[in-house]
Amino acid sequence: MTMIIGDKCVVAIHYKLTNDSGEQLDASQDEPLVYLHGAAGIIPGLENELTGKAAGAEFNVTIKPEEAYGERVEEMIQTVPLAQFPEPDKLEIGTQLTGQNEMGQFMAVVTAIDTAAGSFTIDANHPLAGMTLHFEGKVESVREATEEELSHGHAH
Ligand code: ZN
Repeated sequence: MTMIIGDKCVVAIHYKLTNDSGEQLDASQDEPLVYLHGAAGIIPGLENELTGKAAGAEFNVTIKPEEAYGERVEEMIQTVPLAQFPEPDKLEIGTQLTGQNEMGQFMAVVTAIDTAAGSFTIDANHPLAGMTLHFEGKVESVREATEEELSHGHAH
């Protein structure tokens, strides 16, 4: 019997991710990406596209930001005094920082450094926020999730 992708399935896919300009942003390597369907393991737009497909099916889908990593949010870009950072000399544009706020842990990237003003700018938006994404690939396998995987909320 052919298994169709739905909730509580563990799915393996090979994929290539490109942006609107056709630039490759990411891709599965030798091993496919394995995830638990219906557990927010992948972006909603891709999950919806894969629902109902079986092993061997190919996909080629365009996903708008709201079904991917969301729109960019201005409030997630902040200017911080350099003095608040323990080692300001080590900051460079592109440095990734981990912070903590009331929402939990977040990742941010340094986007500007203004030594004259004594401040730097961090952007905590997801790097793919605001982007329309194109996924092309193939479903490699579909199987039922184990009890353990379901209780953990991810594939093993
Ligand atoms: Zn686990």
